[in-house]
Amino acid sequence: METLGIDIGGTKIAGGICDEKGNIRCLQRVPTPENAADINAAVADIYRRCKGEGDIKAIGISAAGNIASDRRTVSFAANLPAWNQYPLADAIEDLIGDGVKVVVENDANAAGWGEYRFGAGRDSRDMIMITVGTGVGGAIIVGGHLVRGAFGMAGEIGHIIMVPDGEACGCGLFGCAEQYASGSALERFAWSAARRQPNQSTHLLEACDYDRSKLIGPMVRDAAREGDPTAIEAFSRLGDWLGRLMADLSAVLDPDTFVIGGGVAEVGDMLLGPAATAFNRHLQASMYRQHASIVEARAGGNAGIIGAADLARDDRE
Ligand SMILES: [Zn+2]
Repeated sequence: METLGIDIGGTKIAGGICDEKGNIRCLQRVPTPENAADINAAVADIYRRCKGEGDIKAIGISAAGNIASDRRTVSFAANLPAWNQYPLADAIEDLIGDGVKVVVENDANAAGWGEYRFGAGRDSRDMIMITVGTGVGGAIIVGGHLVRGAFGMAGEIGHIIMVPDGEACGCGLFGCAEQYASGSALERFAWSAARRQPNQSTHLLEACDYDRSKLIGPMVRDAAREGDPTAIEAFSRLGDWLGRLMADLSAVLDPDTFVIGGGVAEVGDMLLGPAATAFNRHLQASMYRQHASIVEARAGGNAGIIGAADLARDDRE
């Protein structure tokens, strides 16, 4: 059974026809329009372009926001207020008018499902994906099922409070994991270390022109690869928080695999090494239990498309 997977991202909308093995055909990419109506039109347009190429039975949409348990309504979208309490599936079905069913999934859940079915979690049964990008996203799979929660809000790993009254988070709370284990945190760690030890941070300071507002994650990565001790230390601090987060998650869910994805995780061992060390240190009964594998994501940038497409199949409800 073929379905169409569409990933509505902050900068681009990408979609294509997916088969049951996770292969994509007719891949389309367009810049993300600014308002809700134009986004719907762009999605409908991708459908029309792919329609002739396959027998599309359903459409799975990956969207950045909290999705209600009906898998049709966006409850809350921090980056697109027009989507708060927005019936996204209805709007797109009306526009397409073909009787094709639309299912909406949270973007981190769709990407996590893509990894579970076709990527690094393929041999797993109980898997947690942590996406380390600008923020921290999560997806939880237990016993082969995506955990959406009673109200659709499960898997928001980035908003577990790790530091009481800690750093202010974009969600309105304080001390969320997202403020310590994300790409934004990496920049903060690197900058504070560079200010304290400028001689150990030459590559980084030159790359950002000694200007905090110009400092971005890839500069920290490059500086670490070129040997700036403070940049390596920033990854190590980030890994430490990530390891603590995984230990906490293991206390609740005891998964067999953690898949770490997102742009920041592309450095591999520089992050995953310290993360594994911290995980082992903070894991309860560490010496007397089996440890989850910690692996890099493998399905790449199209994980959201293939995940959403797969979740739109009838048997995935
Ligand atoms: Zn938060």
